[in-house]
This record gives sequence, structure tokens and C-alpha cells, in this order.
Amino acid sequence: MGELQPPQGAGQAGEGGLRAPTRHPLAWREAGFYDEPALLKELERVYDICHGCRRCVSLCQAFPTLFDLVDNSSTLEVDGVAKSDYGKVVEQCYLCDLCYQTKCPYVPPHEWNVDFPHLMLRAKAVEFRQGGVPASRQRLTSTTAFGKLASIPVVTEIANAANRSPAMRKLVGKLLDVHPDAHLPEFHSNTARRRVARLPAAAPAPRPAGPTRGRVAVFVTCYGNYNMPQVVEDLVVVLRHNGIEVKLVERERCCGMPKLELGDLDAVDRYKRDNLPVLGRAVGEGWDLMAPIPSCVLMFRQEIPLMYPEDAEVQAVRRAIFDPFEYLMHRHRAGLLDTAFKQPLGRVAYHAPCHQRVQNIGPKTRELLALIPGTELEYIERCSGHDGTYGLRKETYELSMKIARPVAARADKFAPDVVSSDCPMAADHIAHGMKDVKRAPAHPVSLLRQAYGI
Ligand code: SF4
Ligand code: SF4
Repeated sequence: MGELQPPQGAGQAGEGGLRAPTRHPLAWREAGFYDEPALLKELERVYDICHGCRRCVSLCQAFPTLFDLVDNSSTLEVDGVAKSDYGKVVEQCYLCDLCYQTKCPYVPPHEWNVDFPHLMLRAKAVEFRQGGVPASRQRLTSTTAFGKLASIPVVTEIANAANRSPAMRKLVGKLLDVHPDAHLPEFHSNTARRRVARLPAAAPAPRPAGPTRGRVAVFVTCYGNYNMPQVVEDLVVVLRHNGIEVKLVERERCCGMPKLELGDLDAVDRYKRDNLPVLGRAVGEGWDLMAPIPSCVLMFRQEIPLMYPEDAEVQAVRRAIFDPFEYLMHRHRAGLLDTAFKQPLGRVAYHAPCHQRVQNIGPKTRELLALIPGTELEYIERCSGHDGTYGLRKETYELSMKIARPVAARADKFAPDVVSSDCPMAADHIAHGMKDVKRAPAHPVSLLRQAYGI
């Protein structure tokens, strides 16, 4: 298998292109991948195409940074930009993939073969291997280790108290490169795994529908287990309420997305080696897979398959993993979704995260929430600015708030009862930028449970 095709039901053409985009595998194990002169040459080639195009200027800070460098150079062209400044563009990319999936007319099969996100990833990988990433940033992306430590009951209290104390936040800032005003999530010692273990389980006869088999093994995710255990519990309750057998994946490590964003591909490889045998076995035993966070689904659906195109287990996991609302809407089409909602949700400012949008599955969360009577949705399809660690780090926090501002303003204008996003970090980031927040943001899965009254 040489290329990754869009998932079933995906749009047939990228914006501005006539043919469906194909994604070439990431050549991270080839000798030339880490060759710095070759990388600089490719950066110059692609930067020059982008300079002539400029249609991504509003997507993120990477493109304005590039265009400012060009416009302030002596030649007004890319050849006037110092190669030592190329990294300034790379720093601003958080690998959301929107430029590739929604804007670029020059992605393969176009002969110009522009894959801006993966070129940024290659540049990040080269920088990481050269030792250019500080230890504080590496610590910040060690999510599993963090979660494990911070979920020990006494440590949980200390971690959450430190989060609220300005003095301690300064120290945290030094250790982890976190901006003192950035919103940090709470940790929970009553983890998702502990909560789900206490729920009543059932094993209904599986009822396949479309590509779903009716049995789901949930990849809990580090964030789900330690930072939002209630959401994982709600997901399990909602799936079981709809006659789906559910279990948690027996053990897991971070999906690898935070390390990917850092360019630490060796860590991504280590995590993949831990996760894939467990996930692959579950698929072989007849389970579908699901994760409550779009970035983690995207990792198994796109990034890992592009790193290991020849690995049959990786490809089997890619085909078996689903976004929760994508899954439920497949079931709905077969008449297998309970639509007897008991409680209205009121006014919901719902944000569709980039890492869900680029999966090309359509706005499934919006479609399902719209089925709930007494629910008014403000649908926001724009970058929240959080993007992994971008919204936390000292150097990028202010820029991330600038990106979040129009989203927060739109939510404020709608005066919602609740803010929601499939990405809990994005929801918190938006609420953090709003003037008036009535209640804490809620994951759409939690809203669904609320609507069922279960
Ligand atoms: S992947 Fe996202 S953050 Fe990176 S350059 Fe493209 S749009 Fe910007
Ligand atoms: S990534 Fe593609 S669409 Fe975006 S500026 Fe570059 S060439 Fe244009």
C-alpha cells in the first residue's frame, strides 16, 4: 500500500482541486528525511509556491509569518529570506492539517506535490534530532507519565492546588514552559478506568450497521483517563444505552500526537509499538475502536498509517477506529439510535475541532445534537487556537488567544447556555477567552447523556 485514500464517504475533491487528494506516506525512515540541506531546499521550494498562492493566510500564524519574512526581505521573494529564519514558520505550525485538507490545490496528485503539514513535521523532526527542543517542552508532552503521577490521590490535590496558585504556576511555567495565564486542566484520582469498572455492564447480541459491528473497545486516552473521566463514563453509558457492547481497551499509552507535534518520531514509534498489538488484537476479536478525542482518532486513522503504510495491523486499526458521533450516526441511519430524548439542551455554542474536520467524516456531532428537541446550535467551524501545547506554551499562548478571540466573541454573541466541542481542550480554551460563561464547557457526549436523562 503506497498511499492513504480518504475514508469512506469523504468528499471527492479538495477545495480548488478536481481530483480527490491522496496522501503520500511519511518517508521518516529514509536516509534523506533528516538531511538538513535537502530539507532546506524543499522548504524553499514549497515556501515559494505558498508565497505565490497565499490562500492560507488566515488559517494560522505560520503563513503570516512566512509572508512577513518574504515581504520584509530585500528581494521580496523567498530567496531573500535567510534560511536561519525558516524555522520561525515551522514554530507556528501545530499540525492541524487544515491547509492540506481544506485549502491547498497543489496537494498530490498535483505535480507540485505540496504537503505543507508534513513538511513542517519533517522540519520539526530534524530540529528535535539536532537537540533543538528544550527539555521543558519535552516534559509537557509526556502526557501518560504526567497523568499517572497526578492521579495518585495526594498528588492530585497538590497538582490541582498548584494549578490555582500564582506562585506555583510560575514554577510550573519554568518546568514545563507553560504561560502563567494559560488554562490548565484539573487532574482526577477517580480515573475513567476506575469509574467505568464500577458501571453495570451488559453484553447484548451485536447488531452490525453499515461499517459498525456493534461492539466497541474504547481507547480511553491519557486526557480522558486523568483529566476528563466523566466524559469517558458518559460515552460508555450512552453507547450501552444504544444497545452497544462496550469495554475499555485493556491497556494503552499516549496515542503519540503530542510527541508528533514536537517532531519526536522515535517516541511516536515507541508508543505505536505499545499500542498497536493491543488495539490490533481487539479488532481481531471483533471489536470496533473509538476514542473520545479527535486528535487521538486522527493519529490512528491518518498519521500512524502514513508512518507505517506497509504494516497490516496498523491498517486494520485504521479501518476499525471511529469518532463517537460518526459511529452513532452510522447506527442512526440503520434505525439503531435511540432518539427518545427527554431533556432539551437549550442554546449550545458548538465548536467543530480541526482534527475532527480533517477526518472528512462530515459534521456528525452537529447532525446528532440537532436531533435533540429544544436545542439551538451555534455551529462554529474555526480554529480555537488551542492546538495541543500551542495554547499553553509561553511563546505561543498570546498568539493562541489571538486566534481564539473571534471564536470566543462569536460564542459570547450567541449567549449560550453551554459551550461544547469534541475537543475538550478547545472548549476550555474558547471559554477561557469568553466574557460570559454560564457553566463549565461540556463534551457533546455528556450533552447527549444529559438529553437522554440517564
Ligand atoms: S497544518 Fe495547520 S497550523 Fe500547520 S501550517 Fe497548516 S493550517 Fe497552519
Ligand atoms: S499550503 Fe497550498 S494553499 Fe496554502 S498557501 Fe501554500 S500553496 Fe497555497
